[in-house]
Amino acid sequence: MADPAKGTKMDASIVAKSFRNEIKAKVVAMKQAGIEPPLLVGLLANKDPAARKYAEWTGKACRADGLRYELRTLDDPIEVEAALIDANDDPRVHGIIVYYPIFGQEESFSGESQDDYLRDTISHKCDVEGLCHSYRTNLYRNVRFLDYPTNNQKCLLPCTALSVVKIIESCPGCYDFTKPVGRKLEGKTVTVINRSEIVGRPLAAMLANDGADVYSVDINSIYMFRDGRLHACDDSVTPESCVRKSSIVVTGVPTKNYKLPTEWVKPNTTVINVASFKNVEEEELLQIPGVVYVSQVGKVTVAMLERNLMRLYEQFHARNNKTDAIAGASSDKNSNNERQSIWSVRLQAYSAAVLTVILAMQLLKK
Ligand code: NAD
Repeated sequence: MADPAKGTKMDASIVAKSFRNEIKAKVVAMKQAGIEPPLLVGLLANKDPAARKYAEWTGKACRADGLRYELRTLDDPIEVEAALIDANDDPRVHGIIVYYPIFGQEESFSGESQDDYLRDTISHKCDVEGLCHSYRTNLYRNVRFLDYPTNNQKCLLPCTALSVVKIIESCPGCYDFTKPVGRKLEGKTVTVINRSEIVGRPLAAMLANDGADVYSVDINSIYMFRDGRLHACDDSVTPESCVRKSSIVVTGVPTKNYKLPTEWVKPNTTVINVASFKNVEEEELLQIPGVVYVSQVGKVTVAMLERNLMRLYEQFHARNNKTDAIAGASSDKNSNNERQSIWSVRLQAYSAAVLTVILAMQLLKK
């Protein structure tokens, strides 16, 4: 039994497991139907240890769950664009993940950030990370389907931000599932400490799209994300005042020295650390009554990646899968063979008839 006078640490792998079990069940059903599971292609063109680790985890998780994963390592970052276009155009590939950073903030021919340019080059039919232009803009406009008004094709969401949302959904008292879509976090105040384009901004937008008031705290500025708008905050709003008002706090500061001051955290707050560094003094935090603490989100991020891959497959590739292609290709091959053999029999018969006539004429002459 949890001590109500203290906080509890929640293991996010439980959340990851339920999603991965769903994927595994779908893969089993596909294999039973003679269909090859979706193929994810990873493009790695840097020596960044975090990117390499992420590539390793992705491969391991995909293989464990029966999904196909192919890592393509490129020696020269300049080759990534061509490799990406190849994968986009390859009907055998259902999902693509590029491991960043590749160019970082390096100035490039195609714009201020070559990494952003690469993100936008991924086809929305293969974008497991949900960060290409169409998914990004739909997220910021709170458009949840690609095919309005039919609404059969869901927009994909960025894996890390989505993993945080799924963790918050599983924490008691955060989401109110009796409310309609877009209002399930109504009345909640959230602080997200990080406003990067990959983690903090999409997360703040997703939580605001679900009805929360979200303080987005970055190193030099604080904004409020509310009702699809960015609101400036005056000087009275500080990281401390934001955290003190919040019942959900997400930290994503990529430095060893940053620690969230635990005295700012009120009882019953859900605290999630997204950063690969420990942004929170765990022991201190768990002294606060009713606090729920999640120290890592990586496993859920990988589960969201697999879920996104399956969604891409179901929405855009299912009727064009490799099994169909192989079946189609082999039936084409078979009919070609049949046609070839009919022609060769006809040719042989014709040659034999011509030969017989020539021989008969020669015999008659004699
Ligand atoms: P990033 O470097 O692109 O962005 C970090 C952001 O935090 C920047 O906007 C920066 O200005 C801001 N920041 C830095 N110091 C701050 C401070 N003291 N207060 C407030 N904001 C501050 O990194 P990112 O891609 O956003 O990743 C952030 C962290 O999350 C990293 O540690 C990364 O490894 C981790 N991460 C984890 C996952 C996962 O699934 N587990 C996925 C992606 C990133």
